[in-house]
Amino acid sequence: MTRFYSHISAILTVTITILYSASVLAQSIDDAALADESSTEWLAHGRTQSEQRFSPLDQINAANVTNLKLDWFLDLPTAVGLAATPLVSDGVMYFTGSHNVVSAVNARNGKLIWQFDPKVGENSGDRMKVAFLHGSRGVALWNDKVYTVTRDGYLIALSASTGKEVWRVLTVDPTKALYISGAPKVFKGKVLIGNGGTENGGTRGYVTAYDAETGKQVWRFFIVPGNPADGFEDKAQEMAAKTWTGQWWKYGGGGNAWHGFTYDEEFDTLYIGTGNGAPWNRKVRSPGGGDNLFLCSIVALDPDTGEYRWHYQTTPGETWDYNSNMDIVLADLKIAGKNVKAILHAPKNGFFYVIDRATGKLISAEPFTDVSWASKIDLKTGRPVEVPGARYEKEAVIVTPGPLGGHNWPSMSFNPETGLAYIPTIHQYWKYDDDAVDKESWQPPNWQDAAPIHGSAVDFEQMDYEPGAARGSIQAWDPITQKRVWQRELPVSWNPGTLSTSGDLLFQGRADGEFVAYHALTGKTLWQSTVGLGIAAPPITYSIKGRQYVALLVGWGSVMAAVGGKEASDLGWDYRKHIRRLMVFSLSGKLDMPSQPPPTVAVPLTAPFFEVDKDFATTGEDIFGQCAWCHGGAAIAGGLAPDLRTSPMILSEEAFADVVRNGAKRAFGMPSYPALSDSHLNSLRHYIREQADLALAQDPGG
Ligand code: CA
Repeated sequence: MTRFYSHISAILTVTITILYSASVLAQSIDDAALADESSTEWLAHGRTQSEQRFSPLDQINAANVTNLKLDWFLDLPTAVGLAATPLVSDGVMYFTGSHNVVSAVNARNGKLIWQFDPKVGENSGDRMKVAFLHGSRGVALWNDKVYTVTRDGYLIALSASTGKEVWRVLTVDPTKALYISGAPKVFKGKVLIGNGGTENGGTRGYVTAYDAETGKQVWRFFIVPGNPADGFEDKAQEMAAKTWTGQWWKYGGGGNAWHGFTYDEEFDTLYIGTGNGAPWNRKVRSPGGGDNLFLCSIVALDPDTGEYRWHYQTTPGETWDYNSNMDIVLADLKIAGKNVKAILHAPKNGFFYVIDRATGKLISAEPFTDVSWASKIDLKTGRPVEVPGARYEKEAVIVTPGPLGGHNWPSMSFNPETGLAYIPTIHQYWKYDDDAVDKESWQPPNWQDAAPIHGSAVDFEQMDYEPGAARGSIQAWDPITQKRVWQRELPVSWNPGTLSTSGDLLFQGRADGEFVAYHALTGKTLWQSTVGLGIAAPPITYSIKGRQYVALLVGWGSVMAAVGGKEASDLGWDYRKHIRRLMVFSLSGKLDMPSQPPPTVAVPLTAPFFEVDKDFATTGEDIFGQCAWCHGGAAIAGGLAPDLRTSPMILSEEAFADVVRNGAKRAFGMPSYPALSDSHLNSLRHYIREQADLALAQDPGG
């Protein structure tokens, strides 16, 4: 900062403080505010506690949406990928960017009010290895504070008016490979958080509620039982332990709750969506079978004590990574003449569930996409009728949905006026095979190892798409009839979450960089804008001084951008070239779309002097499993980290060691791997070059 600027800014600070102290969170956010469906702002992750992501605003509607234009935008040059839902309260927008940096901006023009940087890249040390660049899905607001998380497991309370840290608490065991990507949940003066990391080692899932004012722990609920010899924490653990066999605690069990928290004010109940098993393969985790509670479930808890009330398990004895961490949406439905307070839930396993909140009982469940692991859900028992062979009992099996699910965390929205739920849907087939896994001697991965394995205990691989088959889709689903009303096929499998409005509109950004408004009843495209970069975050809407805005973080991120593969690479998004932005549209907007470089698909470097050694490359493939979380499967990057096949650094033994072993690029998010030997590093280089040569042989022109 120049001396001149510093002087001016010192004078301005006084003015700014006066300006914003009157406006920042003049309304104190409480349970009533968070439950208010008539709100014209966006106070919580799912807009209100119903998690419907439906706004009653209708200034922008099906008749005039063709006039929607960019009103203002903000470049976010230090961001890498963006996945968050921004929140808007009293004219201020709060959002999280890369590296868990939180920003507060004026929601009418994007002027920065404050920024909070937890310096997570510098502080999280080696645990960055497991906390890849997916970023955070959002913050929470309560009273006069903003709650945010870091990928290395901290929950932090900030002053909403200044962005200054008020308290922080470490919510995970720092010796374990756990991370937080989800948004905190606030209710009744408490703030709740879970974590991710099931795949990175032996972990036992839980959620913890903290006092929103002080950060003091109020309660913790474990999702899977521990070792019975240690005694159970509560009656629920004792009950759950009866559904496990063998020595499950040695593997952790899993169940991590990384998304899907809903507070139901009408029933004063908290619902949490729970994760898959650790490891995925039940034959290893619980060799005598069993449902393995509370994996892959909706668990209803007392919000004051964390005490168990009821559960519904979507995938008993899960063995495919079919977690139930997806949105838990509250809706009032009229089913067979009766008013039902319902939960709507579309988890990975491909079924759409309608559950009665009064009893926790299943009302109906039908597949919302192709499902091959179960033929139906038996409504009498509430259990799936499994297809023989789907558990890869004796041989490899091809199953749909795959580990990414038929629906993942990108938000489903529910429009109470159309009565339809809108689901971003993934269409994929995956092969599961545990023939090569020694089930007796299998050990959970140790993330501190030079080359930790994936914590699945099953080999899995995505099948090629059938020519012309849908990869992804957006669909409108009627939860009462359990039937699809319309569907639009999309060119890419992974697409972000949705926003519904009273203007008969459904908004969705897409992986291919299109921001689209559909007619909510027909799926007809009414408006479309090319934003010049893939989108991973869901849009929101709000109104200030009579103007309705639609806001969207544009910044290719989340799973597909991180783990890459050809489908992601072909989109041509590159974090080093494309500018991440917050883009806000209105009917009064006058701006043309700011420029972006065109997409370009990575072209592997030709290196005829580097002769690939097959044995080295084979060893390198195993080690690369860890690298693939950011640099992409088969070293084909998705845009969140460099495509190593294009990198001249791979050709230099010293440069490679400097970055990978010595941490020369730590500040940019590349962890260091001090345990890797010269031979490990060499193997990695040979594997990366092998993949480059393979791509060049297939398409010498790139
Ligand atoms: Ca998982």
